Amino acid sequence: MTHIIDHLVVGPFATNVYVFGDPEHGEGAIIDGGGDAEGLLGLAEKHGLKITQILQTHAHVDHVAALPKLHEALGVQIYLHPDDAMLYNAAPQQGMMFGYPVDPLPDAQMTLADGGTVEVAGMEADIIHLPGHSPGGVAFHFKSIDTLFVGDILFAGSIGRVDLPGADPAAMKASLDRLKELPDQTRVLPGHGPETTIGLEKQRNPFLLQDW
Ligand SMILES: [Zn+2]
Ligand SMILES: [Zn+2]
Repeated sequence: MTHIIDHLVVGPFATNVYVFGDPEHGEGAIIDGGGDAEGLLGLAEKHGLKITQILQTHAHVDHVAALPKLHEALGVQIYLHPDDAMLYNAAPQQGMMFGYPVDPLPDAQMTLADGGTVEVAGMEADIIHLPGHSPGGVAFHFKSIDTLFVGDILFAGSIGRVDLPGADPAAMKASLDRLKELPDQTRVLPGHGPETTIGLEKQRNPFLLQDW
């Protein structure tokens, strides 16, 4: 199976935003409409992908700020876990808190649920609900290519913040325990910083190795 995963690093928090799909199939998805709508649209075009949906790992402002422009240009559905609805609806206020303007966001389908699936260009992903960094954080595990879009739960050598409103350190620990159950070779594409694998993080990530 051919697939393409490309990304941009956008905004004041250097957020990874992804274009993912299958050029032979001609379709793809944006994962996290965090910034640089023009750049994301250009990336999809470069790879010959018609964007059919936008999947959100969570609703922090650095992951949603380009959704108004993307929705205007593409008119596709945006999918989110319902437990991040409050953050999503408060995106302009989140923007003010972090010092950058965000327009009110387009309506999202708050239908992502643990144990459910999504499909992009014929590739199916398990939805894993991973609260802790935000209440409605999810990861998308595309099993045929063993690739996990994990948002801000797990980073190379670190984890997402657990001190923001809506964060929950105990839930984060439980979420990390679930990620440890995935195959070692699983490719992990996080919301910030370089990619990694589950196996590598189990070897070196202090938040997986030590009690905290
Ligand atoms: Zn976040
Ligand atoms: Zn982030």
